[in-house]
Amino acid sequence: MKALDELTFDNRFARLGDAFSTHVLPEPLDEPRLVVASDAAMALLDLDPAVAETPVFAELFGGHKLWAEAQPRAMVYSGHQFGGYTPQLGDGRGLLLGEVYNQAGEHWDLHLKGAGMTPYSRMGDGRAVLRSSIREFLASEALHALGIPTSRALCVIGSSTPVWREKQERGAMVLRLAPSHIRFGHFEYFYYTQKPEQLAELAEHVLNLHYPECREQPEPYLAMFREIVERNAEMIAKWQAYGFCHGVMNTDNMSILGITFDFGPFAFLDDFDAHFICNHSDHEGRYSFSNQVPIGQWNLSALAQALTPFISVDALKEALGLYLPIYQAHYLDLMRRRLGLTTAEEDDQKLVERLLKLMQNSGVDYTLFFRRLGDESAALAVARLRDDFVDLAGFDAWAEQYKARVARDGDDSEAQRRERMHAVNPLYILRNYLAQNAIAAAESGDYSEVRRLHEVLNKPFEEQAGMEQYAQRPPDWGKHLEISCSS
Ligand code: AMP
Ligand code: MG
Repeated sequence: MKALDELTFDNRFARLGDAFSTHVLPEPLDEPRLVVASDAAMALLDLDPAVAETPVFAELFGGHKLWAEAQPRAMVYSGHQFGGYTPQLGDGRGLLLGEVYNQAGEHWDLHLKGAGMTPYSRMGDGRAVLRSSIREFLASEALHALGIPTSRALCVIGSSTPVWREKQERGAMVLRLAPSHIRFGHFEYFYYTQKPEQLAELAEHVLNLHYPECREQPEPYLAMFREIVERNAEMIAKWQAYGFCHGVMNTDNMSILGITFDFGPFAFLDDFDAHFICNHSDHEGRYSFSNQVPIGQWNLSALAQALTPFISVDALKEALGLYLPIYQAHYLDLMRRRLGLTTAEEDDQKLVERLLKLMQNSGVDYTLFFRRLGDESAALAVARLRDDFVDLAGFDAWAEQYKARVARDGDDSEAQRRERMHAVNPLYILRNYLAQNAIAAAESGDYSEVRRLHEVLNKPFEEQAGMEQYAQRPPDWGKHLEISCSS
């Protein structure tokens, strides 16, 4: 276990120089205070969780203090936003403080979001509000607990600094951890500004640091791109299987590592709805729940364009062709497990699709349905769940197929079935209304609800005593919360 002043830095991105990022100091928040910290994320830095409660912790991650070895940098990138190219974006309110390596030899970027203005702030104030910082913290730690690749969050620091959004709010900072903060948009920036040397330097950097095994391949850059395609396909399959909607899948929010990145108006589905749009500014539904699958491929093709100086167009197209089959395979594998199946049959995809259609038409809670399906034998579970459906004949027909499929899958005891299914079907997810309750309390100075929710979501598959209220469908007010881009 380390104390805060014992972190060891190795700032590899900063060493790329001024063409890639700009030195900027964090702008401190007034009266910084700890809102919540993640023990699991602290462990990634070998930090003793107790240090989160010390005043120096809030000072460090509230922008008042810096380690001597830190080199705070605002990164430059660009990206396709809602389908259109924006030539220059960049860290407008976040700073890469440095790269820390832990005892296991892993590097972690320390990124402080909400750290003030930078050369890339455009019209913004460089700040993040408490509400969005809590949402990012809870989402990244909850996704991780579900087994979905994601950036992590070390802590949220609150403050008394006023920040104007639709109304006056308070500024906060979230300390984000990831092995890299390089986005698709980094490559696009150097490609579209016609800086081939920097583009090559960036590609070398990513290959050496994050895809070293691709060096062994005959075409290392192509191997790296294929790997990026595969990781994204797998990540989005997991989003779909667990009902996660990112909301702003612009290429500047897509990580080169295939991890969930940059949380805005995201949501987990309550009722299953393939057409769900979580960002109420997304009028066309570009990033609606089911569109996230083809958008993943669209984003990868935007990255592919930026890699055309290194890889032939034919090879890039072939690699992009891997996306859908790999997505499908991962998705189906997870959905089979969610249904309690251990074998594969040709018609399983149809079994899943029929179920989703029935759930869609009846507004069935996506998370609780699967959880309850594993509570008892297939026959008993479907009999109990039947009441949730409007189209009873349709559900009965599905239930017959499902029971027959389960029978063909092989015999096991109810207890084995429950254990297997509960291990993949969470009881607790980050419902918007639960986040909203925690945020409302935090905005009035009570952080206990954020902390409790974080604890519950850390073990989403384990039923926790006294936590029934976190495993319910949303109340009416909580069903139609409008989450905007403002953050
Ligand atoms: P996002 O939609 O949060 O992914 O942000 C898109 C771009 O806007 C990024 O370059 C951000 O750094 C920048 N940005 C977002 N909010 C702010 C803000 N309050 N101040 C400065 N820049 C911001
Ligand atoms: Mg972003």
